[in-house]
Amino acid sequence: MRTPFVVGNWKMNLDLAGAEELARGIVAKTGAILTVTQAVCPPFPYLRAVHDQLVDSKIQLGAQNVCFESKGAFTGEVSPAMALDCGCSWTIIGHSERRLILGETDALVNKKVKAALAAGLKVILCIGETLQQRQAHQTEQVIDAQLQGSLDGVEVDPLKLVLAYEPVWAIGTGVVATPAQAEAVHMHIRRWIITRYSAGVADQLRIQYGGSVNPGNATSLMVQPNVDGLLVGGASLKADDFAAIVAAAQAARA
Ligand code: PEP
Repeated sequence: MRTPFVVGNWKMNLDLAGAEELARGIVAKTGAILTVTQAVCPPFPYLRAVHDQLVDSKIQLGAQNVCFESKGAFTGEVSPAMALDCGCSWTIIGHSERRLILGETDALVNKKVKAALAAGLKVILCIGETLQQRQAHQTEQVIDAQLQGSLDGVEVDPLKLVLAYEPVWAIGTGVVATPAQAEAVHMHIRRWIITRYSAGVADQLRIQYGGSVNPGNATSLMVQPNVDGLLVGGASLKADDFAAIVAAAQAARA
């Protein structure tokens, strides 16, 4: 049985005091829960401060991105080892905002996945289609290409890598994928993993859904057999909402 995994992606929000307060609030509400893996991904400058708030809890820390290189002349970048030094055990890689706004390609995402895993960071790899691609019935084709490109040469260890299906049209829009839409893509992804890796890997690999998740829709998504967790943006900025989503994940898999 796959342990549900709920992650808060705080994006470029909050200030230092707000990040610490949010972390304290989440710890107070969900910090003792063992049956759901939880992580929060604050902006880089707040990682250490948030880490200090999480120390006595079960909530893990993640970065939102890392560099594909380990050190050197990469102005403005943060290496996987630096994220580890700040207390991270996870990093998000390939978020659609980085792909679409900052021009990250599957080839770059692939280098980042390899660099993060080599350094000892666990990876949440994001994939997902745009509205235009969905309307053109290209969803599976896009997902396959992203998986192929991002995982090329990567040995998938389900303890160290999680996939997040995040349809671009659902991110920050308030338009959530229906549970059936999410389940269909998650099942497709799991089949792809069976073909490229093995049934054993596919069986253990956690696949999160992300895109306008909130306390009201979390349960309907989490009861889908192939939805193993949630990557939450906007709703993760409120401790009550994040806690309600974690509770929904816990109840759905109880
Ligand atoms: C995200 O950016 O990963 C995300 C899922 O955002 P939101 O929940 O706000 O749609």
